[in-house]
Amino acid sequence: MKAIDSYNFKNKKVLVRVDFNVPLDDKFNVTDDTRIRAAIPTLKKILAGGGTLIIMSHLGRPKNLPEDKFSLRHIVAPLSKLLGVDVKFSKDCIGAATKAMCDTLKPGEVLLLENLRFHTEETKGSESFAKELASLGDVYVNDAFGTAHRAHASTTIIAQFFPHDKMFGYCMSAELESIDNLMTKAKKPFTAILGGAKVSGKIAIIENLMDKVDNLIIGGGMAYTFIKAVGGKVGSSLVEEDRIDTALQVIESAKKKNVKLYIPTDTIIADAFGNDANIKTCAINNIPDGWLGLDIGPETEKEFSKVIESSNAILWNGPMGVFEMSNFEHGTKVVAEAIVAATSKGAFSLVGGGDSVAAINKYNLADKVSYVSTGGGAMLEYIEGKELPGVKAIEEAVENIAK
Ligand code: AMP
Repeated sequence: MKAIDSYNFKNKKVLVRVDFNVPLDDKFNVTDDTRIRAAIPTLKKILAGGGTLIIMSHLGRPKNLPEDKFSLRHIVAPLSKLLGVDVKFSKDCIGAATKAMCDTLKPGEVLLLENLRFHTEETKGSESFAKELASLGDVYVNDAFGTAHRAHASTTIIAQFFPHDKMFGYCMSAELESIDNLMTKAKKPFTAILGGAKVSGKIAIIENLMDKVDNLIIGGGMAYTFIKAVGGKVGSSLVEEDRIDTALQVIESAKKKNVKLYIPTDTIIADAFGNDANIKTCAINNIPDGWLGLDIGPETEKEFSKVIESSNAILWNGPMGVFEMSNFEHGTKVVAEAIVAATSKGAFSLVGGGDSVAAINKYNLADKVSYVSTGGGAMLEYIEGKELPGVKAIEEAVENIAK
């Protein structure tokens, strides 16, 4: 796992897959550079070791042809600033001109390639495309945890062309280590807090966590399916009718496995889905017709906080309510603060999955939890217990090197 620390990068052309899939405003300024900053330690290590950097990434979801709004040229300036090196840019990620640019690079120089997804072969996992990318460098480093769950050309297929010279970057290793630590060596009590919109997206995680956690807290939109499953009146709240049985199975399984399941007891309801709607607090199992629950209530906040603050290991995925709207963000904020309080008392806390990360950043608490995962979908699949193709492709190499 730590091969990057001992590898000799001197005079090597190092092809690094990063995740620079960052948000841009309408003037193409990067509005959140977390993912760029996350790759800097790996990039600096390679430069300090005397290597040349050839950086590959995707940005957004371009449909067919190259589109300027998805061009990685927008990343050149912020990356140059963060690295302290003038980053060069190649208008394509493959082809003769790109190859020629790579061939003339000297140690200490940095080239950023254009968006990989301007070629459909990237997401299709094309072997010939991966081979062409591979021809640009001598070493392959994967530091893009966010795409590790995809068997794309630059994340997985490419690794076979570097049987002895492939490794994880620091960001990728840290992500894997933090999740592995929590899933295999969590101190007790271990509490998982799951929220967000739907039960359907979280069921595989719930199943995998059931054998590991002491407490399972359910909040957000998915809570109303549980409440309906046990006979509550949920008004017009978000309910997945086809997941009511699933919710009942989770309740049963928690009982069998001695996991304490915490479901909200009160909720903030609104007469419409919007921040201008009328709101009130009510018991979560007695929501009037025409009203919908959009946040956890004060009694639930207290109970959840108590459980969280007495935990020694915490996993948080998914907001407790529609935290994007100020009237329904309180529960999410209180949960974030409880996690921070537990962390300050020594608990290990891992926050991950797009919206919980957005929430923890919104409240400026990201540096007060133990680890914030940058890889939404990849993190969820890893927690579900799935093997990530991008990780496997590198680990096979590690085994080869060991042989
Ligand atoms: P997910 O991507 O499944 O983690 O869901 C995140 C989304 O769930 C956020 O955009 C929240 O606004 C939304 N959400 C949380 N609580 C509720 C709720 N009670 N009703 C509807 N949407 C919710």
